[in-house]
Amino acid sequence: MDTTHLTKFYKKNHDDKIDSLFLAGVISKKEKDRLLDRTLELDPETGSHMIENYIGNYSMPLGVAMNYMIDKEELVVPMAIEEPSVIAASSFAAKIIGSAGGFKTTVIHRMMIGQVTLKNVPDIEEATNNVAEAKQEILSRANEAYPSIVKRGGGAKNLDVRLLEDDTDSGIPSYLSVHIHVDTQEAMGANIVNTMMEGIAPYIEELTGGTALLRILTNYATECLATSKCVIPAHKLKTQDFSGEEVRDRIIEATQVATIDPYRAVTHNKGIMNGVDAVVLASGNDWRAIEAGVHAYASRSGQYRSLTSWSKNEAGDLVGELTLPLPVGTVGGSISFHPAAKLAHSIMGHPKAHKLERVIVSVGLAQNFAAVRALVTEGIQKGHMGLHARSLAISAGAKGDHVQQVADILKHSKHKNLQRAKNILLNILEEFEK
Ligand code: NDP
Repeated sequence: MDTTHLTKFYKKNHDDKIDSLFLAGVISKKEKDRLLDRTLELDPETGSHMIENYIGNYSMPLGVAMNYMIDKEELVVPMAIEEPSVIAASSFAAKIIGSAGGFKTTVIHRMMIGQVTLKNVPDIEEATNNVAEAKQEILSRANEAYPSIVKRGGGAKNLDVRLLEDDTDSGIPSYLSVHIHVDTQEAMGANIVNTMMEGIAPYIEELTGGTALLRILTNYATECLATSKCVIPAHKLKTQDFSGEEVRDRIIEATQVATIDPYRAVTHNKGIMNGVDAVVLASGNDWRAIEAGVHAYASRSGQYRSLTSWSKNEAGDLVGELTLPLPVGTVGGSISFHPAAKLAHSIMGHPKAHKLERVIVSVGLAQNFAAVRALVTEGIQKGHMGLHARSLAISAGAKGDHVQQVADILKHSKHKNLQRAKNILLNILEEFEK
């Protein structure tokens, strides 16, 4: 990638942005033409095969975050999001972190977990022993239910049994849950795992004497974790009003608050998900699955807490770390035929699933850094309202150059609301007609 074409990307007009992505080697000529011809839309035939009662497409802006350096590799990151300021904040944070060596990531393993959950198990101990003894046979049957994933090098690899204890206070009886650990290779694997669970359920019933109530993967993907870390020298954090050390300490303190206070933690983590969801969505992955798993992971201690940790090292640098469960795929679902998802994968250089995880977790860390840094210094509204002003201008009916004109006046207005935007637009139009 030749990043010289991408400098001051945000200042270029729409067509020049696309051209510079082409010149930098991020997109192909064909992709450039598709973007310029605005033909990234789903066609109605594909749409009606994807969902039931299809009536049209719901458009979401697709943008790119700049300046990412992940494991020493420069990357442009596609993001699908309707909220202003997220991509600007992402690129800003990535620039600071990139100038300090960038993100260093780890992905230990990529395993999905399927559950066969049984009710009315007559003898829990006997059932548990029977399942443990039949482990190889259960795994073989799971693999027979989805042989192609075995041919691809994956498949069911391990199992364990969990007793879900009864809760006499609420009258809930005990259940037994058999967990199968599945390597789904490049796929997120929901359908692969679900097929396996349905395939082995009758045999598990035979072994346990219970009735299989549920046969599906869990979205709590605790064996599909990705971590990103960054180290930022304090001097890079300096603002007009605060020294670098003050900003560093305030970021650490703000994260302490999000670690002990769920009210703050939810908002802190929402900021992380601004970035995570945008890449998950752009890459055609199931963002509901990621959202559900991430928030469960934030509660793993028994209390909902900050997902990031920020601390200082001996040199006084700010050290950030984020770990997320990220069961994303590079195949499966609509990834291989959704035109915008295909483009997103191409922009990232067709990453393997583990690399896509590394990108997403790094974006989450950057997004958190940008949000907390802004919060503990000038406040979030300065940057946010500046960009939000454009949305208000569009809502007020501004078109073409008038959008920026209305936004510029609105930015300096005391009241930044829709009515004010409408009044500003009216004044501009009246001036225009004079
Ligand atoms: P698919 O059902 O599309 O299965 C993956 C497909 O990718 C298979 O057809 C497989 O082919 C193909 N493939 C090609 N190359 C590879 C490779 N290298 N590694 C693995 N597979 C490969 O998708 P998933 O099983 O991933 O399921 C994801 C979908 O399931 C998402 O759309 C999600 O929304 C949905 N879903 C989610 C649920 C949840 O999260 N709770 C529940 C139910 C559905 P082959 O078969 O030839 O191996």
